[in-house]
Amino acid sequence: MTMLPPVPAAEREDLLDAKVARAANARLRTIVSTPLGVAAIAAVLLVVVTAVLAPMLWAERASTFDTSALSQGPSSAHWLGTDNLGRDIGLRVLVATRLAVGLALAATAIGFVGGVVIGASTALAGRRTSRVVSAGIDVAVAFPGLLLAIFFAIIFGVGKLGAVLALGIAAAPWFARLTHTLIASVMGREYVAAARVMGLGRLTVLRRHVLPNVAEPLLINATMGAGGHLLAFAGLSFIGIGVQPPDYDWGRLLLEGIDNIYLNPAGALGPGLAIVVAGLAFNLTGELGASALGGRHRRVPAAPQASPPAGRRTPGADDAVVTVRDLRVLVPGEGGWVEAVRGVDLDVRAGETLGLVGESGSGKSLTAMAVVGLLPISVVARAGVLEVVGLDLATTPARRLRRELGDAVSVVFQDPSTSLNPVIRVGAQPAEVARQHHEVTRRAARARAVEVLGQVHVPEPARRAKQYPHEFSGGMRQRAMIGIGLMGRPRLVVADEPTTALDVTVQRQVLDLLDEVAAETHSGSILISHDLAVVADRSDRVAVMYAGRVVEQLAAADLHTSARHPYTRALVGAVPDLGTDRDLPLATIPGRPPRLEEVPVGCAFAARCALATDRCREQDPALEWSDGAAVACWHPVSADGGVG
Ligand code: SF4
Repeated sequence: MTMLPPVPAAEREDLLDAKVARAANARLRTIVSTPLGVAAIAAVLLVVVTAVLAPMLWAERASTFDTSALSQGPSSAHWLGTDNLGRDIGLRVLVATRLAVGLALAATAIGFVGGVVIGASTALAGRRTSRVVSAGIDVAVAFPGLLLAIFFAIIFGVGKLGAVLALGIAAAPWFARLTHTLIASVMGREYVAAARVMGLGRLTVLRRHVLPNVAEPLLINATMGAGGHLLAFAGLSFIGIGVQPPDYDWGRLLLEGIDNIYLNPAGALGPGLAIVVAGLAFNLTGELGASALGGRHRRVPAAPQASPPAGRRTPGADDAVVTVRDLRVLVPGEGGWVEAVRGVDLDVRAGETLGLVGESGSGKSLTAMAVVGLLPISVVARAGVLEVVGLDLATTPARRLRRELGDAVSVVFQDPSTSLNPVIRVGAQPAEVARQHHEVTRRAARARAVEVLGQVHVPEPARRAKQYPHEFSGGMRQRAMIGIGLMGRPRLVVADEPTTALDVTVQRQVLDLLDEVAAETHSGSILISHDLAVVADRSDRVAVMYAGRVVEQLAAADLHTSARHPYTRALVGAVPDLGTDRDLPLATIPGRPPRLEEVPVGCAFAARCALATDRCREQDPALEWSDGAAVACWHPVSADGGVG
């Protein structure tokens, strides 16, 4: 058998890019060639061509009275018959297409713009104002739309202008709620959090990172909404408060056709059919767009947002980049606020990497996000001291915090597929940081972005800078994300499980790159990982978290040999190494961490600890420092395995 040589990493990424592009094209071709796609395109073409050509070709003939052909049935001369003034109904139906579709689109545009502005305002306003606006939207949506439209039509006056305004205003709450919901889902994404880390203001984040990402579903819903407005407008004209003679739309023609339905049923059937075909055209187009989008948008877990903690200010050491004392993070629980982080103290100095480890729910990510001011708006943080790169997060004005943290703090998130804005070219995203913080020209910012992409080992950076994130592999996206951090002057890098979503070979490259960045910039780093081997290998010190507290801090080099807390020892013991007997089952930690609502009075680890005593169950041990390490345990294990 011939062994093929391994494919180099860069080449593998190119192959992956080509595969992604081919898959996207194939998906689009598949959707367009389905019966739904063909029907949608045919219906739209039919409506558009008719709306453009019919008034030009037949407007005059459709309005010409013919007293010799009053109220006739279908014939070869008049295929839908004539009305009671002898006018050709078929031609009138075709000519009415432009007005009917135009008015429906105008009403949709008013509702869409009004709704998007109101919905987007909830993302810009403060929490209280946002709640009031949301409640107002919910109340307005609770009214049946057509009743609301009739109400406004009476206020604005009978006629097409009044009807357009009425339908548009009646639709605005619906679009507002849709916009509010979509924005809320996008605001939690990591690239939005990353944009806020860069120090961008709310309006800029909304304009550059949020609205472009909700535009597609909004437009699809607007397209479907136009179909509904077509029907609603016909309804208003049918009951006599829409289009008025001598103008006519399909609703008006339907009204006239119903008057003569016993003489000429086709006179009512024609406009009715036109409404159905045009409504289908809008709805099918919306369905087609939704199908195309189906594979591109997926929900991701909510990412944290800013919530400045309160606390007294005490200065940190000269080279301290993070000083945290008594950090408490409260999250809303079923029966009220619950402490998810319970009095954490941390220090990170320039050039040092602090590893944060612990099981899921131990509070390590919440701690890190509180440090960089990226907690969800529903989460509250309090701290005795919380200083980051020399700034007190409690007392520094928000504008200065945004500017200086944006320049000095870099965050690398877990999932590279959601860390970059999918609708902005990769090169433009780091360039945005340069323009925001360094007041450079667009050209200079782009040049610097290409330079930085090269620095983080993105191959062919000039070409790659013009591509979109979906054209990058996971590892390359993570490198680009690290590059964004390099656009400022990073003094603190927070990497939250930065390699979890990557394959093993790329993991090492990304970790090497983070080490390289830390060494070059002499920045302090917080590395969060559930992988003990990674943390031990890449950190200077390790803080072990359990149930919202730091239970042990020690030098990373001592993690495997000198850990004193039974939990740290159990974590280390649960990781197999070369000496592990493969015939024996892997060691696990019995039981589960306590629920946040049910953290016991004494040591939170007592229920799982083989060394637990009555004292452990009654009193919570404090973190005690000795010889540069700290442990929170009544019976810490000594280096020789003895119990204190
Ligand atoms: S305080 Fe007691 S229960 Fe908690 S880890 Fe130490 S020995 Fe175990």
